[in-house]
Amino acid sequence: MTTIDHWINGAPTQGASTRTAPVWNPATGRERARVPLASPADVDAAVAAASTALETWRESSLSQRTRIMFAFRELLVKHEDELAKIVSAEHGKLIDDARGEIVRGREVVEYACGIAEVLKGGHSDQVSRGVDVHTIRQPLGVCAGITPFNFPVMVPLWMHPIAIATGNTFVLKPSERDPSASSLIACLYAEAGLPDGVFNVVHGDKEAVDAVLDHPGIAAVSFVGSTPIARYVHERATAGGKRVQALGGAKNHAVVLPDADLDFVADQLTSAAFGSAGERCMAISVAVAVGDAADALVAVLEQRARAVRVGPGDAPETDMGPLITQAARERIEAAVGKAAAQGATVVVDGRGLKVDGYEEGFFVGPSVLDNVTPAMDAYREELFGPVLAVVRVRTLDEAIELINANPYGNGTAIFTADGGAARRFQRAVNVGMVGVNVPIPVPMSYYSFGGWKDSLIGDSPIHGPEGVRFYTRPKVITSRWPQRHTSASPAAFSFPTAG
Ligand code: NAD
Repeated sequence: MTTIDHWINGAPTQGASTRTAPVWNPATGRERARVPLASPADVDAAVAAASTALETWRESSLSQRTRIMFAFRELLVKHEDELAKIVSAEHGKLIDDARGEIVRGREVVEYACGIAEVLKGGHSDQVSRGVDVHTIRQPLGVCAGITPFNFPVMVPLWMHPIAIATGNTFVLKPSERDPSASSLIACLYAEAGLPDGVFNVVHGDKEAVDAVLDHPGIAAVSFVGSTPIARYVHERATAGGKRVQALGGAKNHAVVLPDADLDFVADQLTSAAFGSAGERCMAISVAVAVGDAADALVAVLEQRARAVRVGPGDAPETDMGPLITQAARERIEAAVGKAAAQGATVVVDGRGLKVDGYEEGFFVGPSVLDNVTPAMDAYREELFGPVLAVVRVRTLDEAIELINANPYGNGTAIFTADGGAARRFQRAVNVGMVGVNVPIPVPMSYYSFGGWKDSLIGDSPIHGPEGVRFYTRPKVITSRWPQRHTSASPAAFSFPTAG
């Protein structure tokens, strides 16, 4: 049995805690490793290493940081296969899907490679006679990241490259369900030349998270995960005076107008709803069929969902892998049953699926539910599995009202051939990331990622320019270099104004 290590001060360690948790292979349903669950003393050791490293790292030159980011980027390319296999084995997603998240995460490193350009401050010459003003952005200190299971490479990469490139040091607490990718990332940073203690990984559960949230040596916390935990993290860490960004869960709607090309829509929605078994925060879980679109849309969605091939993520013919745990599988099967009991039409039923040779795996097939209403649990709850609910409405305005009344506001999309309708939708909808004929509108690394409402607690989106803002503090310096003191500039006692 493999035992996964923490990574503290440039070296693997088992830490002080004796608590461990299983890491499953969701396709076989068998335990593949054990992960240590950090105690507060382990978190303390990581923060101590990061604090010591901070003293020199914050003084490192932009060139030095940039060179390390370039080297790290090259190592991510070199180890893409290895990382993708690790992600697939612990998460269950397809190897190609895992490659996709590695590439999207790597793009944040590429953004961090240009940090010297992004960190340029402003300068105002001669704001008053002989007085100049300039601004700089300085690092916060030791920053921490707490991340979810569904993107074990990409989501941490939304955080630490920017934190590190801006001169901070970092402690990552990745999901305990698929922790191994973070250990490899730590090795790659070390190989890229990052000094010991700048990047640390502590594995664990609530005990480790609480130790991070309460630690006086941590200046800022980045969190991505479910909304209840995002809210908890935000409240507890801000109460301790930390800067916090906390991204939560989602219920993403795709609006389909009658003029859309339904074959195109069916393909897009099938991949957006069932890709990665629906375990994406930007997955489409609600199709809002407007007017006449409904019957034809449900027919094509049924056909596509029935064609999805479910199996292990490392088999080339698989379209959709297993869920992360047996509990997740049971939750999804119960949700489909409850939807039927509450009056939804189960058009495709993914319950009870067995995959030959993988009978103990955490598999569930794709489900399509029709005639779902906002009162049903299948609409109200974030199911985070391969379930697509179809809600029928009469008009685009009704569709917008539905989305705006939903507590989540992560992503949404509209499918239409009408530019005017798309423009009305994108302006009126209360959602942070909007796709027009694009089902999963994840912003590129040089924009920032973040939802609205219950999908983001607090006010700070992640990566891109907002990431740089989050991990730095602005400083404004007003300076004067008098030639010599003359009687023309005697001491003045009124509030200084521009002369
Ligand atoms: P989760 O909230 O259960 O866990 C996230 C992190 O919080 C993990 O590191 C976990 O160890 C820790 N945690 C869990 N329970 C805790 C508790 N009681 N106290 C303290 N810490 C706790 O989320 P998950 O199941 O790993 O991931 C899926 C969720 O993440 C979904 O809701 C999904 O929408 C969301 N997500 C959101 C985004 C986004 O960008 N908005 C991206 C990816 C995932």
